[in-house]
Amino acid sequence: MSIEVSGVSKLYGTQKALNNISFKVGKPEIVGFLGPNGAGKSTMMKILTTYINASEGHIKVNTFDVDQDQKNVQKSVGYLPENNPLYLDMYVKEYLAFNAQVYKVSKERIQEVIELTGLTIESHKKIEQLSKGYRQRVGLACALLHNPEVLILDEPTTGLDPNQLVDIRHLIKSIGQTKTVFLSTHIMQEVEAMCDRVIIINKGEIVADKKLQELRDNKEQTVIVEFDYRVEEAFLKNLPKVKSVINTHGFVYEITFETSEDMRSHVFDFTHDNQLKILQLNQKNASLESLFRELTSN
Ligand code: ADP
Ligand code: MG
Repeated sequence: MSIEVSGVSKLYGTQKALNNISFKVGKPEIVGFLGPNGAGKSTMMKILTTYINASEGHIKVNTFDVDQDQKNVQKSVGYLPENNPLYLDMYVKEYLAFNAQVYKVSKERIQEVIELTGLTIESHKKIEQLSKGYRQRVGLACALLHNPEVLILDEPTTGLDPNQLVDIRHLIKSIGQTKTVFLSTHIMQEVEAMCDRVIIINKGEIVADKKLQELRDNKEQTVIVEFDYRVEEAFLKNLPKVKSVINTHGFVYEITFETSEDMRSHVFDFTHDNQLKILQLNQKNASLESLFRELTSN
């Protein structure tokens, strides 16, 4: 196992930011650490990278204990902190060379990470001249310098525009083919786009730990349908395999079915047989979204 967390709690004064957390991450694996703001994501990541200590519990990273073997943990981990702090008045190459010294890595490796993170065309610029997307690449390049087994990325895509987002996601996915990637986010689409598994944290506690494939295989689906007139919810419950019907707004209804079979044609036939008109009909893969909402709404 690349990351083993067992019974970890963290107190800031009297506030419990983490409460008895346990999980494991293997290799290669990309795990999304998903939770609302203030859930404890950054705190957990700072503990994994030895920046702060846990108040209770045991943690191993790449088999090394974070309390007893900090040096080896640091060698094993590449860390992109929240808000990606960089020295803006340094040049990209200069900044990477500066960090390379800390890690004692070769000049060749600097060039390698520049290429790996797609920084080549911007590598002669000052960091302050770079767009947010390229600054994120510099942060990633820095985290990759010493070729660590485990990457810990704290909200790596926050603040990126849609094109930058696609590029960085792609990069992270490709890194995750051979390494362990543990990334935090408060956006569930991020998890859908990049991760093999999701660990959901809320108020310092883990509330779910699931493979994305499991969620996709979920035997439930929701169809969103808009009629041209009000329909009784009870009437829509006559549809086959209905679990619930919610009138979300206006004449729009969310109908959840207990089946993975596409139920849109059934909805269409049903409304046609009952002389109703459909204005829109969509299927949504609601499993991760509803899980997240259900588990983090209080
Ligand atoms: P997340 O990254 O999920 O947004 P954090 O780990 O940053 O959450 O914070 C978890 C909780 O711990 C929050 O309530 C936050 O205010 C608190 N917290 C974080 N860092 C400190 C600190 N250095 N001192 C006191 N409280 C802190
Ligand atoms: Mg955070």
